[in-house]
Amino acid sequence: MIIVGAGMAGLLAARMLSHRKPVVWETQKALPNNHSAVLRFRTSQVGDILGIPFKRVNMIKDTLHWRNPIADSLAYSYKNSGSYRSDRSVTRGLVSEERFIAPPDLISQMAEGVKIEFGREYDPNDPHVRGSNVISTIPMPALMELLDYDMGPDFNYREGWTLTALVRDCDAYVSLLVPAPEDPISRVSITGNQMIIELAREPVATPTGTAWDAARKLGIETDVVYGVGELRRQTYNKIIPIDDESRKRFMLWATNNCHVYSLGRFATWRPGLLLDDLVKDVRLIDKWTRSSGYDMAVHAAR
Ligand SMILES: Cc1cc2nc3c(=O)[nH]c(=O)nc-3n(C[C@H](O)[C@H](O)[C@H](O)COP(=O)(O)OP(=O)(O)OC[C@H]3O[C@@H](n4cnc5c(N)ncnc54)[C@H](O)[C@@H]3O)c2cc1C
Repeated sequence: MIIVGAGMAGLLAARMLSHRKPVVWETQKALPNNHSAVLRFRTSQVGDILGIPFKRVNMIKDTLHWRNPIADSLAYSYKNSGSYRSDRSVTRGLVSEERFIAPPDLISQMAEGVKIEFGREYDPNDPHVRGSNVISTIPMPALMELLDYDMGPDFNYREGWTLTALVRDCDAYVSLLVPAPEDPISRVSITGNQMIIELAREPVATPTGTAWDAARKLGIETDVVYGVGELRRQTYNKIIPIDDESRKRFMLWATNNCHVYSLGRFATWRPGLLLDDLVKDVRLIDKWTRSSGYDMAVHAAR
């Protein structure tokens, strides 16, 4: 079994399927750590599977109101995705939710014991690939190109930026959504003592100026903000959904013709997919790759 990509999806699959002795091919030269924010999960499932304790916390969330709830919801969607949708993450009033916080070195912990070949690009014509089952976590448009699949839809996505900073005397779990179109910041969160700022546009201000602006939105004095990191660009920050038929048609085609199973947010082009959701998908792929008769109907219903 070959797993393509050593991001979170590939590493989770490698750990869950360790009994099948998979090898991970990663095009980058070292462990990529594509994720630049603290990870908060809805359940403890991923931590339990990996044997890594996650911290259970209560997180509070609200919106920095711009106009009215409907305008805020549409503006937040447009700011992040480039289209007006009724974004349900915008709420009116404080919401409190249980979350599970992963340790900061989650990705390197996930990679422990996993056989990774760095600098190795997936090539469907590679003789090692023939006869192997391949779990692909590379973005769907890139896989389509590699497999010469030309019936795909147009893919749209928006880039974004993230910035982190530390806050002295702080142990909080909060998120504030910022719908105002003129403000480059789209969300400010604190996890413990780390502030994570997500931006829809590259800010004009310096990283420190941006971190101070974010702190002020949370009512935090700027003199307790320190350790401001570098602005990090995320190419696929927000991906715009494609129609379900195109998605499934390609996934079925790739499985039936090339024994390639797609896994993860970008590989299956599903914007809201989190690591929690992948556990079920890895188990399904394990089942499908074991059974000789591949059940198309089950896959299509996925
Ligand atoms: C600000 C922010 C906050 C987030 N918060 C959370 C959260 O709290 N919880 C959560 O679950 N998720 C969260 N996410 C989402 C999470 O970061 C992504 O879903 C996750 O990083 C995607 O991982 P992946 O393994 O699917 O893809 P990637 O990380 O993109 O991995 C794919 C890998 O494939 C490699 N690759 C590409 N092409 C090839 C090739 N041809 N051959 C070999 N290798 C190749 C790439 O180099 C890459 O390393 C957040 C995202 C952002 C931006």
